[in-house]
Amino acid sequence: MLFQYNLYFFVLSLTAIISAIVAFDAWQRRQTSAVSKPFILMMLAIALYALVAAMEAGAIALEDKIFWSKLEYVASNSVITLFLIFTMHFTSKRQWLTSRNIALLWVIPAFNVAMVATNEWHNLIWTGFLRHPHQTNIMIYQHGIGFFWVMGCVYVYTFAGILLLAKRALLPSVLYSQQSSIALVGGLIPLVGGSAYMLCLTPPGLNITPMSFMLTGLIYAVSVFRFGMFDLVPVVRDILIDRMSDGVLVLDVQNRILDINPAAQNLIGTTAHLIGQSADQVMSKWQEKIISYHEYESVNTEILMDLSTLRYLELQITPLRDRRRQLTGYLLILRDITQRYQVEVELRQANERLRLQVVQIETLQAQLREQAMQDDLTGLFNRRYFDQTFPRELVCATQESYPVAVILMDIDYFKKINDTFGHQAGDRVLQLFAGLLRQYSRSSDIVCRYGGEEFVLALPGMTLNNAFQYAEQIRLSFQAARVKFADREINTTVSGGICVFPDNGNTSDDMLELADKALYAAKAYGRNCIKYVR
Ligand code: GH3
Ligand code: MG
Ligand code: MG
Repeated sequence: MLFQYNLYFFVLSLTAIISAIVAFDAWQRRQTSAVSKPFILMMLAIALYALVAAMEAGAIALEDKIFWSKLEYVASNSVITLFLIFTMHFTSKRQWLTSRNIALLWVIPAFNVAMVATNEWHNLIWTGFLRHPHQTNIMIYQHGIGFFWVMGCVYVYTFAGILLLAKRALLPSVLYSQQSSIALVGGLIPLVGGSAYMLCLTPPGLNITPMSFMLTGLIYAVSVFRFGMFDLVPVVRDILIDRMSDGVLVLDVQNRILDINPAAQNLIGTTAHLIGQSADQVMSKWQEKIISYHEYESVNTEILMDLSTLRYLELQITPLRDRRRQLTGYLLILRDITQRYQVEVELRQANERLRLQVVQIETLQAQLREQAMQDDLTGLFNRRYFDQTFPRELVCATQESYPVAVILMDIDYFKKINDTFGHQAGDRVLQLFAGLLRQYSRSSDIVCRYGGEEFVLALPGMTLNNAFQYAEQIRLSFQAARVKFADREINTTVSGGICVFPDNGNTSDDMLELADKALYAAKAYGRNCIKYVR
């Protein structure tokens, strides 16, 4: 084969080499990249396209040039088909890529290649061949109607891919638009290159389409492998959004649904195709909630969905903005919190039950304390005990005709002790006084803390005189006693009032009232003394 190594040959060879390197690079990264397979094949087809174009440029004999040109059509038709497959893959339209559809996509390119291969029989692609007037090794192909048909197919395929990319690029999501814009630019380059050749804007006979495709491949390669961008899109779209359990909805500014994942469809409770529909209609039940969102703020709210069963959903609405801070739509995230909600309700109910039980227990405890007969602080009996026992004692005394003396005693200026030394010191004084009473009392005596710093004693068989002596003893002992508290000594006195049954009264109430009067008299007399009813 006669061959000439000219400039076109070198430029196209370089294109082939670069495209092959990109394909090889992609092949090596195929494990981590979701777009690699169609991309690798596309880059290989570009490399082949450039290679056969280089051979065509170098070949001298007409038959050789035609042979390589025919192979160019094989390569270029493969490139456009693989480009379309790549864009479908990249824009998450993989559900379209069934074996049947892929086979259908190859039908027209195969037909075109067959038409080119059999040109000698019909001259539909090339009607004639002219040598370049100045550059002897450039062949100018005169094109027939078939060529324009083939170019039409190239445009349709490339446009279809570009449309898919453009649609994705216009989505409000930053993720999609940025990467799809890059892919879009990559798709437009060969279109411009091919058009320039067709419109004879390139030097005669120089088809720059293979070089343009190489540029596309380079742009994609840099984006994919240097920045990992394209990899991210399908991975994020499929794994993060399609498979996530949270519902994701993207709305435009007119509240139309731009994107929705299966989880959101499930939560909304419909299997209908919702993309493009108005969210207001689809989600009429949440109308008020959605209307209440503010354009400038994210909203986090909970909604109750009454589908076949009640469902509680957490709804998060985030306004989406472009780089110029213009509102482009909304991102809605839905989370089913029914279970959490039910657990919370059950917890609240359990808490409420517990709280009621605690209240009940506290009431019971209070009742028990009240019912208890003993005073916690002094260990003496309490007023309840006195009120129950004293009347019985009086019955016995009446039956057996013995007197019962009642002494009511009250510590003097007790409040002052609390105020001066503190409550604890006051308690110690009370305990000391109770100890004295215990010390002086006989087993038949009823000795009680009547309340606060007041004590009552019922002394069966004791006359007024004896009771007075007895009370005086207690008074004097108490006067002499000291309570040590925080390195200080506390000393106080007590006053008392006495009455005797049955001389002064007949009932327990009478007795208490009279003893209290006598005590009052002792206080009035100046305290630290015992008075009795005459
Ligand atoms: P008076 O000489 O007139 O009896 O004066 P007083 O200060 O002793 O009498 P008052 O009734 O004004 O004060 C009695 C004080 O006893 C008021 C109350 O806070 C205190 N008190 C009642 N119960 C207790 C107790 O259990 N411990 C202590 N520390 N103080 C108590
Ligand atoms: Mg007192
Ligand atoms: Mg008192």
